[in-house]
Amino acid sequence: MLQDVNESLNRATRQVMNFLFPRRCPFCGKMAGKDLLCADCEKTLPYTGENALRQGTGFGRCASPLYYEGAVRTALLNFKFKGKLGGLSCFGALMAQCAAEQYSGAFDAITWVPVSQKRLKKRGFDQSRYLAASLCVDWHVPPQQTLRKIMDNPPQSGMESAEQRRANVLGVYEAVQPENITGKRWLLVDDILTTGATLGECVRVLKEAGAAEVVCLTLAATPPVHQ
Ligand SMILES: [Zn+2]
Repeated sequence: MLQDVNESLNRATRQVMNFLFPRRCPFCGKMAGKDLLCADCEKTLPYTGENALRQGTGFGRCASPLYYEGAVRTALLNFKFKGKLGGLSCFGALMAQCAAEQYSGAFDAITWVPVSQKRLKKRGFDQSRYLAASLCVDWHVPPQQTLRKIMDNPPQSGMESAEQRRANVLGVYEAVQPENITGKRWLLVDDILTTGATLGECVRVLKEAGAAEVVCLTLAATPPVHQ
């Protein structure tokens, strides 16, 4: 549904919407400028900058425009757990720019890390699907579902070691329509990069289903000091 809405929203429509319903900055709640966030946050957000690209065994490469701290952490928690969707355009624009900078020409299809059916029912939406749909608006390509979460594992945030995190996600995703996955270079979208265990497991499943390449993109990454 949101995917369809997003695809039909072109720049002109967005401008009219902005006039009728002035946007608020998703990071502080103040009135936003034309760049979907306020001038203060635009300057002070914890951007990853030169460290936008992180490499790791398992997930390979992951690009993230922001660090998961301060106002970014609050905005993401509001989005995920309080259903505040007003920041989606801004999040999508930040991710699209980061992907363009880090992965120009490196992928030809977009997908996301899904939540389980049980979580979807409880929350009402799949946050990474929404992020993927939002970042695709200006590219005019819809994201495609490639993965299904078949087990409801305990939250990764409760796992202390990298080993526990890897074991906790092993086998919880399966490929949807592998014939659609085979041979394509995928951009895999999620909300936060922490240790990369979840992304690593999704990359493994996609490659097992025949993906030619998988590169990852999240809105935020935990700062190196917290890992
Ligand atoms: Zn702001």
